[in-house]
Amino acid sequence: VQPYADAVDVETFLDRVEHELAPYGFTPTTALPLLSVCRDELMADFRRDVRRRWGHFFDLASLGGLPLLGRTGVAAALGHAPLDGVRHRLLVLALPHVGLEGSVVGSVVRPGVPGTTSACGAIVVAQQALAAGVSGVVLDRHDVEESLLVARLHETLGSGAVPDLVATTELVRRAAVDELRLLAGELSTPDAPVDVALVSGVLVHATGHDHVADVEVEVLARHGDARTP
Ligand SMILES: [Zn+2]
Repeated sequence: VQPYADAVDVETFLDRVEHELAPYGFTPTTALPLLSVCRDELMADFRRDVRRRWGHFFDLASLGGLPLLGRTGVAAALGHAPLDGVRHRLLVLALPHVGLEGSVVGSVVRPGVPGTTSACGAIVVAQQALAAGVSGVVLDRHDVEESLLVARLHETLGSGAVPDLVATTELVRRAAVDELRLLAGELSTPDAPVDVALVSGVLVHATGHDHVADVEVEVLARHGDARTP
């Protein structure tokens, strides 16, 4: 089975997000976007496309797209979110990425760079570290993001075998969603409700054209009904 067979182009993905979240009152003027993707310059087009639809976003970028901003970062983002009546809304987008050159998963051609390179390189490096038996529990202050990515994957995999890149990328997506759900879940109070839309997927760089696969859209509403009447 060809991986990412369900991938859609970025505009179709953004249409779906807009369409599914509109009934909950999420619009560019009522919601602040938070974007959790890899630092890789390959993500530039996607970042631009998100900004065109949703305006300037709070940037959660890190190696591999694992969000590391923590409670302080999410609290800061909430402080910047527009107020609609008594309600704030955050649109959180979490998409690790992967190259798909021809049918080679993890491979991508970059302008001016001979041959092909890895994407996501940070996830490939983490896979190699785990396969080599790195425990990942040590935080390297000169390699903070990568060591936390390895640690997070190690936490999930234990001493089990390191899966292929498609499965490892999915683990990173799950880890990102779990972390963001935890952080976002702490924000809402009965007096100051915060609706959080959690959108995730895998950004696939398929031979010069970006696609989005494995899309999931979820609205968290802990106080009151997020759906507008
Ligand atoms: Zn990357």
